[in-house]
Amino acid sequence: MDNVFKHIETKLIHSGEPDPRILGAVSMPIFQSAMYETYGGEGYHDIAYIRLNNTPNHAALHDKLAALENAESALVTASGMAAITTSLLTLLSSGDHVLFQPDLYGGTRGFVINDLPALGIAYDFIDASTPDSWESKLRAKTKVIYVETISNPLMGVGDLEAVVNFAKSHNLVSIIDNTFASPINFRPPELGYDLSIHSCTKYLNGHSDIVAGTIIGRRDLVEKIKHKLDHLGGSLDPHACFLLHRGLKTLALRVQYQNDSALKIANFLNDHPKIAKVNYPGLETHPAHERALKLFDGCGGMLSYELKGDAESAEQFLKSVKLPIIAPSLGGVESLLTRPALTSHAGISAEEREETGITDTLIRMSVGIEATVELIEDLDQALKAS
Ligand SMILES: *Cc1c(COP(=O)(O)O)cnc(C)c1O
Repeated sequence: MDNVFKHIETKLIHSGEPDPRILGAVSMPIFQSAMYETYGGEGYHDIAYIRLNNTPNHAALHDKLAALENAESALVTASGMAAITTSLLTLLSSGDHVLFQPDLYGGTRGFVINDLPALGIAYDFIDASTPDSWESKLRAKTKVIYVETISNPLMGVGDLEAVVNFAKSHNLVSIIDNTFASPINFRPPELGYDLSIHSCTKYLNGHSDIVAGTIIGRRDLVEKIKHKLDHLGGSLDPHACFLLHRGLKTLALRVQYQNDSALKIANFLNDHPKIAKVNYPGLETHPAHERALKLFDGCGGMLSYELKGDAESAEQFLKSVKLPIIAPSLGGVESLLTRPALTSHAGISAEEREETGITDTLIRMSVGIEATVELIEDLDQALKAS
């Protein structure tokens, strides 16, 4: 049935919906039942029970999410971190080795540095934009290569095609955290990635009111990860499934608007006398601009910029904006601003931050769906006040 839906806008609405509709319901109902009648006989993982990720709400979401990235299979999880940790714990065991890009999402980086070594799993960091340097980091027990589509907070885009080729030629599982791009802008399984992970807390739900995650990709791997998730227990509650399902329907409208708005804002800031630097893959000045245009259908709603001046000027700017909310996280309908030096990267020393380009005046923006002209007017008045 799903193969009749050609475009992602249509898949968001119709893929995975129950056929026939449940009592004719136009919208997928919430099945708020922990367990379902059974006389036994099915395998453990098929007993209908919320923790086993197989209620009607889970099934509908799995089919819809797989369709969005043209993948074989998908699984929803209780958070983005549940998707990431459960996948890594499924694919790696004591003695194994894994390659990561260093500028990972904070929670992922913390898990890699603190938790993997305690389990006897070794890792190395690789520069995602220099494939020539990767082979020297390989070990006999290297099993996985893991990158992010767009890195936080400097919006770097690594050589994502080289990652797939490297994984295939060295028999590694390739994993990409595709949260920042969303399936509207990039569908990693189409490029050959084994697994694409999202924090659905961000663009996929889009309304800043739940935490959820997903793993999309090869059926055999997703099945193994589901079995691990069944045991670890990071399953998504049916009510949160419903909210994610509802949020997904407007994903294309939201992200296409956010792509457009972010590009206009990036251009405005790029020309602004109070701005030292803008990081956005859609700008010609971005080091991976050509690569981003080749791989992505849009460059996303996330950007960061450095103000001229000092930490004081950055604080004054944040105090002066009226529309964006000063908060971490991203991908919702409301614009958000954060200063990574004080939030996501607060645990890193000032020197190390300067070295990696996360200066005291760096501001990260998640562009919402407010009127672009109004956001630009607001940023302009706040920059004048900074
Ligand atoms: C937020 C985020 C995560 C973690 O997701 P949660 O839903 O908060 O657990 C992972 N990766 C990226 C890129 C994120 O932005």
